[in-house]
Amino acid sequence: MPELAEVQTTVNYLKREISGLSIKDVWSCYDSPFYKNKENIKDKNYFKKMKKEVRGRTISDVERKGKNILIHLSGDVTILIHMKMTGHLLYGEYRRTNRKEKRVTFENWIAVKKGPMRDDPFNRFIRLVFTLSNGLHLVLSDARKFATVFIYNTKDPPVSLMKLGPDPLQKNFTFKKFLECFPFLVGKQIKQTLLEQTVISGIGNIYSDEILWSAGVHPESSIEAIPQKKLYKIFSSMKFILHQGIDLGGNSVSDYRKPDGKKGSYQYRHKAYQKKGRKCSRRNCNGTIVRRMIKGRSTFFCCEHQILYNSK
Ligand SMILES: [Zn+2]
Repeated sequence: MPELAEVQTTVNYLKREISGLSIKDVWSCYDSPFYKNKENIKDKNYFKKMKKEVRGRTISDVERKGKNILIHLSGDVTILIHMKMTGHLLYGEYRRTNRKEKRVTFENWIAVKKGPMRDDPFNRFIRLVFTLSNGLHLVLSDARKFATVFIYNTKDPPVSLMKLGPDPLQKNFTFKKFLECFPFLVGKQIKQTLLEQTVISGIGNIYSDEILWSAGVHPESSIEAIPQKKLYKIFSSMKFILHQGIDLGGNSVSDYRKPDGKKGSYQYRHKAYQKKGRKCSRRNCNGTIVRRMIKGRSTFFCCEHQILYNSK
């Protein structure tokens, strides 16, 4: 699932490229009876309403909140896109495929130019298309159709955004503020807590494993048992690794691609995630990376240098 670094990579790109353009048209093939009467474009009637609401408006800004992409439009309308498991936004020139082509390719839309946008199979699942005033398109490729898209009044954000914890990359998110996130979490494990979006927002399974590997803390450590200096190591590793993820265009170990259709390269820096059975790459560590299911999440860590702090 795209996490903070992938979402920020997408947002940085779109902020630069689509701000100031207006939305000419919207198309979608999402349609699920499960979402009937829900505030989600997977309900056909809701989609019609959204289409009417956004057509003709100008994109004023693109922002990230947690793992959500917010596309702010003129007149206080915001489009929220959560890419979930397999979604990612692409930006370029697309055209509708005709019926004849559809028999051989299942796509409704196809990128005009050759390159990763057209040829990488992960970029082919086009479920949502915004036609922009410069003739280019912002499209959502979403293989498994798990993405969430809806609109809201910019001045009245939905509860899901209001409940998000602080953003770890905000400049004013200091170590003191980091510690303030934890008082009510006595007895909770550190990995589980880093994944909790209402505590700290934006971190998911991959980056939490990398942060804890870097900090030398076992993912099942109890928060109250972790010494302050190790908590500081988690805090500084978190900032460093998330920035590194953004600098490398996010990680494309699975479906995620940047808006130009290309892969990010953070996956080549992974030290723990999906490194099961490999020798730990930390200097002077003779450990091996192991995989364990922790609270339902596949977790990778070094069996030697990641210390288990337990209050029991
Ligand atoms: Zn190690």
